[in-house]
Amino acid sequence: MNNGISKPTLVLHICCAICGAYLSELLKDRFTIIYYYYNPNIHPQEEYERRRDSVIKLASLYGSEFIEGDYDTQNWHKAIAGFEGEPEGGKRCPLCFRLRLAKTGELALAKGATHFTTTLAASPYKNEDIIGAIGTDIANKLGLTFLTMADFGEPKKDIWAKTRALAKEHGFYHQNYCGCIFSIRNK
Ligand code: SF4
Repeated sequence: MNNGISKPTLVLHICCAICGAYLSELLKDRFTIIYYYYNPNIHPQEEYERRRDSVIKLASLYGSEFIEGDYDTQNWHKAIAGFEGEPEGGKRCPLCFRLRLAKTGELALAKGATHFTTTLAASPYKNEDIIGAIGTDIANKLGLTFLTMADFGEPKKDIWAKTRALAKEHGFYHQNYCGCIFSIRNK
């Protein structure tokens, strides 16, 4: 509903359409959302493109802007160097989060957005406290606000249940590993 008051702009870093399905619903009335697909961690390129195309579909459902970041895989490998042998959920992941959220913060600043966040926290496989701390740290340095899980307004388990249901309804592509080459071995 348009009440004449313009909404603040939020850049939503999105890793896949699945994780973004219900968050889009939760955030659409509070913010003008820009979907930002910056995921140079995803391997191989065909998988990267498949997830990206699904996100484009989600953004178009909401008539929202979609921006694709660089697929700078060398930059990602540099960011996680020395932690290739870590298990999923170990010390490599915070470095992966930080790279993607730092780019999202930069984009938010460039687009004149006041807020940014990520769909990563919605996943049951990811630690929302670590993601919240990294995002908040980046936001504080940029003078922006990062939305943490607590700011989404519903318990994580409820968000995930609704996320799965909505993603199924939309028929979004469902991947079976986190994304990087090292997470493929956990399949
Ligand atoms: S397992 Fe997932 S979060 Fe962790 S480094 Fe790989 S792609 Fe990034």
